[in-house]
Amino acid sequence: MNDISQPPKTDAVPVSDFYEITETLAPDELVMLKAIRKFMETKVAPIINKYWTDDAFPFELLPGIRELNVGGLGLEGYGCRGGSRQIFGIVMMEMARTDPSIATFFGVHDGLAMGSIYLDGSEEQKQKWLPPMARLEKVGCFGLTEPLVGSGTGGGLTTTAKRDGDTWILDGQKKWIGNAPWCDVSIIWARDVADNQVKGFIVENKTTPGFSVEKIEHKIALKVVQNGLITMKDCRVPEANRLQAANSFRDTARVLRMTRSMVGWMSTGCQMGAYEHALAYAVERKQFGKPIGSFQMVQDLLARMLANVTACQSMMLRLSQLDDEGKLEDKHASLAKAFCTAKMRETVSWARELFGGNGIVVDYNVARFFADAEALYSYEGTFQMQNLIVGKAVTGLSAFV
Ligand SMILES: Cc1cc2nc3c(=O)[nH]c(=O)nc-3n(C[C@H](O)[C@H](O)[C@H](O)COP(=O)(O)OP(=O)(O)OC[C@H]3O[C@@H](n4cnc5c(N)ncnc54)[C@H](O)[C@@H]3O)c2cc1C
Repeated sequence: MNDISQPPKTDAVPVSDFYEITETLAPDELVMLKAIRKFMETKVAPIINKYWTDDAFPFELLPGIRELNVGGLGLEGYGCRGGSRQIFGIVMMEMARTDPSIATFFGVHDGLAMGSIYLDGSEEQKQKWLPPMARLEKVGCFGLTEPLVGSGTGGGLTTTAKRDGDTWILDGQKKWIGNAPWCDVSIIWARDVADNQVKGFIVENKTTPGFSVEKIEHKIALKVVQNGLITMKDCRVPEANRLQAANSFRDTARVLRMTRSMVGWMSTGCQMGAYEHALAYAVERKQFGKPIGSFQMVQDLLARMLANVTACQSMMLRLSQLDDEGKLEDKHASLAKAFCTAKMRETVSWARELFGGNGIVVDYNVARFFADAEALYSYEGTFQMQNLIVGKAVTGLSAFV
């Protein structure tokens, strides 16, 4: 059993893993998870509040992340780490338990950018791009959302792609793109003016003329993740960099289906982190001569938080099983993303409440989880959009038309 008054021990099951779902992993998976947990607790946790406050990405952590050898988690071959959807999800949860920004950075690179090439690239493209990305020598981003098109991306992108011989000319803007201000490779989704279908392109950020990125400033959530506004003006990309199996928005949606469930896992990890900090504080902080954790109303809050966390873990575990069995559909991923992010919002606000005034100071950690939860709630499809997908599935009636 864990002693909650002590700092977390890497080998112990976290106190937020009440039903011990991580114990469902195979022994070799558990070894990997514990290595990641150790890295997150010993290398990330001590420095992350400073980077969060400074709105900066901790490049000093990249060599250590590379050494974890987790690039290409969930993808098979091409130098990728491989593994089930379940281990991928639990790793995302574990990263977010210490820091949702690091989990997001990794999810964007591994799930969205590498996943696009893996699902929609030709054999040649996979062989060229995936190995260096798996080694994190090249980091990727995923550019779908635009300044004027967010929830409605399926209904029409304004960024255009026009073929000109062996090249394509991209014009338009992409907003909110995680990792974009500093990464190497962007997956850009654009509407082909010839057939009006969405196509995907691999763009090399640093060497492609007409491609520029401006960092989005003044965010209040996921401040460690650098989000960019990408502008493409007469930006020329070779036909060899067009994702050869991406012929319509359906092929974009395949990537999103794969990654959306990961946001469910991350939002579960985000609540775990907030809950653990709240529990430790409840035992340590005294009022009226007693630890605040001895008061019935505080215990009620802790029990509610733990119930949220445990419900999300159990739901995500089953969702991953469906995924590993090849049965995952959009409706399943959407239900989980909506439910877990909503419960996360509740949990992190109770955790913040339990800290009283200290809950709004970043040094006490819980404020970071509280703020970061807002981004997880909105990205990869908002709560409303997920529920509309579920609503359509259960009624057979589309609210989109
Ligand atoms: C921190 C962060 C990181 C991100 N990273 C990336 C990234 O790496 N790559 C990328 O491509 N995008 C990224 N995004 C974009 C993200 O996916 C969008 O913000 C999200 O899909 C919502 O789009 P929007 O912000 O334009 O909101 P809008 O679409 O303008 O929605 C505004 C509000 O209207 C509601 N709404 C819209 N349509 C309907 C409807 N039909 N019925 C009911 N309600 C509706 C929404 O639910 C929402 O509450 C990121 C966003 C954030 C905040």
